[in-house]
Amino acid sequence: MINERLVELARCPRCVGDRPDEQERGRLKAEGTDFVCGTCRAVYGIQGGKSEANLPLDDISLLPRSGYLDLTLPTELEQQTKYLEEEFEQELDYEHISLPLLGAKVRNDLLRKLLRPARNEIALEVGCGNGKFCYWNRQRFDTVVGLDAAPLFAEEALAEIPLVQGDVRRLPFAPASFDKIFSIDLLEHLPASGIEPFFRELSRVLKPGGRILIYSNTREMGKLAPIIQFEKKVARFFSERGLFDFKRDDLRKSDHIKALRTFEDLESAVGNVGFVIERKVFWNGVFQGLVDNIIIKAGEYVVRQGIRLQLSRQEAKRKQEGESVRSRLASATTGLTNDWADGGGHQRMQMEIEENRAIKQAEKVAMEAEQSAEESSALDLAIRRSLKRSIADRRSGSVLRVLRFLTLLQQLDIIFFGKMRTGPYFVVLKRR
Ligand SMILES: [Zn+2]
Repeated sequence: MINERLVELARCPRCVGDRPDEQERGRLKAEGTDFVCGTCRAVYGIQGGKSEANLPLDDISLLPRSGYLDLTLPTELEQQTKYLEEEFEQELDYEHISLPLLGAKVRNDLLRKLLRPARNEIALEVGCGNGKFCYWNRQRFDTVVGLDAAPLFAEEALAEIPLVQGDVRRLPFAPASFDKIFSIDLLEHLPASGIEPFFRELSRVLKPGGRILIYSNTREMGKLAPIIQFEKKVARFFSERGLFDFKRDDLRKSDHIKALRTFEDLESAVGNVGFVIERKVFWNGVFQGLVDNIIIKAGEYVVRQGIRLQLSRQEAKRKQEGESVRSRLASATTGLTNDWADGGGHQRMQMEIEENRAIKQAEKVAMEAEQSAEESSALDLAIRRSLKRSIADRRSGSVLRVLRFLTLLQQLDIIFFGKMRTGPYFVVLKRR
């Protein structure tokens, strides 16, 4: 969504000021259907809005409206394209936001517990993905703005969350704009050269006395690593036999750089820009691994098999119907030779109709057989989507109950092992 608050906070990334007294640099002004930088005259547009694309912006009564503000610099587009394409492939089901469940719920609960949102605060999520954490917390802040380099925003977020496409290395916001900032699953993707600019930018847009929550991970192994390794071994056993499918999970993790290798690396990186770690919670994924790598995968397998069985039954039925059409066709042909002498024009027409129908039926079966090769991955996506939908609509009561139970199980990791040092961590940063 584009609202007045967002227009007030947003700045041209090329011109935005560094010091709190440089508020006016790069301020955006509405001109026609675009925004124009008051300093360098660069033009920025609204994307992803529905049916309102060409409405003039200078009429303030037309705000808020759906969509996001594209504040990327034209020169950056080329570098980003490859990244965007990869993101698209990985996030095929980003379009809708479901309820917070499993790992997302663990993250969301800790976000609330550690960052303590307040109704009078303005917050920013850096690397917001489809905008789900912004969406789940939209009523806990006065405003929560989402920024991501890839504009894969969910419909719900486009409608209700102020969203910006922009670069984390130069945040397109005025200095000292936000009371709270959070960033979940982003830091581990940044190369070593991107770490300091990232923290400097967070520091620049944070108000005095503000807080930052980071969820990321280092390369450290905790004391519980052997248990987690064992779970992975079990999962690999099933995956090698084609029962569990980890393609999606592997893709997700393929671009983890983890330039901060240890917790000390993190401490010194935030120290370099004047921050200290105020609170920390570690996430030892013992129950998480059990749920994500074994229980959920086994559940997916069962659902997949059930649907496959249903599909093959349907196909058998269709084939049978095709047979009966062919046999009727055959008998019609026999009848025709007898009726031909009587000038059986009606019969002949009937035959052509039957023949056409049989050909169409055969074509349909052939096409479906062809599709079945691609079916496996399409099927998985379809299952995930329909589950997500039915959970969002609260239609699927029993599935939801199971997932809630599994979520509770995952939360035990935080309750039991939250103080045991390991790779994944939540930290709250404040100025020294
Ligand atoms: Zn500018």
